[in-house]
Amino acid sequence: MTLGVTVLGATGSIGCSTLDVLALHPERYHVVALTGFSQLDRLAAQCVRFSARFAVVPDDASARRLRTLLAEAGCVTEVLCGEDALCRVAAMDETDVVMAAIVGAAGLAPSMAAVRAGKRVLLANKESLVVAGALFMREVARCGATLLPVDSEHNAIFQSLPAAWSGDMAACGVEKLVLTASGGPFRTWSADAIAGATPEQACAHPNWTMGRKISVDSASLMNKGLELIEARWLFDVPAADIEVVVHPQSVIHSMVRYRDGSVIAELGEPDMKTPIACALSWPERIRADVAPLDFMALSGLTFEAPDLARFPCLRLAYQALEAGGDATCVLNAANEVAVAAFLERRIPFSGIPALIEDALATQDLAASGSVDALLARDAEVRAWALQRIAAC
Ligand code: NAD
Ligand code: MG
Repeated sequence: MTLGVTVLGATGSIGCSTLDVLALHPERYHVVALTGFSQLDRLAAQCVRFSARFAVVPDDASARRLRTLLAEAGCVTEVLCGEDALCRVAAMDETDVVMAAIVGAAGLAPSMAAVRAGKRVLLANKESLVVAGALFMREVARCGATLLPVDSEHNAIFQSLPAAWSGDMAACGVEKLVLTASGGPFRTWSADAIAGATPEQACAHPNWTMGRKISVDSASLMNKGLELIEARWLFDVPAADIEVVVHPQSVIHSMVRYRDGSVIAELGEPDMKTPIACALSWPERIRADVAPLDFMALSGLTFEAPDLARFPCLRLAYQALEAGGDATCVLNAANEVAVAAFLERRIPFSGIPALIEDALATQDLAASGSVDALLARDAEVRAWALQRIAAC
């Protein structure tokens, strides 16, 4: 019996790497559903290659186009559309494992549907936890879902914590979680140079090849801010016990400090196929076709403190976590709108932290009690942010 895997966001960077790993193990996994928002040619090719039962696209026009492409290839994949269909394929009986790899708050509802159906959920979509961390983790416990981190830092911490981790730091002798950050492409740039950076410069990450949104987040260090929030909820640890260390080589993917002075880390090549394979097969280990780490080829491992003055987005993430309520949902919505506007050259790079700071100062941060209320807050802040940008 092979496990049925649904890949939400199959056409993206994580989605494609996931399919590369699945292709190595046809004796263990088969594809149930693949979803994509655009790049229909790529989605069609994936459906053909993996004989997917279902494909999900955003609307009727995309569904018609995908059906045509599939018919030309003689492929019988059933095409569905809309957010309800995303939730349906994430929760259906045929699906055992869900890779949650949609980018942004758009990934929350389908990830939550997978959790509520008690699936094994491989979480790449960190925004789910940034928008709705407390509710999300409560549902994981209530519904008996298995949540496995795919984000490389969180996967490294997961591997470095005791197997019986319950969030009780004292009982496990854990002192701190240490998130490593590459520092991104602007690590050595002056504040003035960063302020005027272009989308091409922001997307040119030194170590990782990723989608455009997370690449910009990495350049602003908002990615580390989102990961701080993600770690807080995933491991149930207060922000004060999560350190951020800049480590430009990205060889150490993150670490755990223990009371006796031990530091346990996970190391490897910067290739997302490693954490994807780990999350797919845990506690077993499967091949991921990642090059072995060559210690002799490493020129050195270096570390430095993050500079919150040149990278205010990380400071804003700490601030939002401290503020509580819906602050991290507000931060995320403002960031998503700002990053999209930056990529469209409507605002400068320095406009990203400026918009987020403004959102945290002016928007209602009172806690919402449900996912629907959080998504309403998300929509409200997006509308405000779009207006704010249009008025500039
Ligand atoms: P990407 O932009 O390459 O892919 C995003 C996927 O989501 C695509 O399949 C796209 O079609 C789909 N999508 C986009 N908007 C959608 C919407 N509104 N509704 C439904 N589907 C939509 O992004 P990525 O780099 O693969 O990142 C995916 C997630 O994984 C993000 O949350 C990111 O933070 C996280 N992540 C990525 C990496 C990486 O190395 N790429 C590492 C760690 C975590
Ligand atoms: Mg990461």
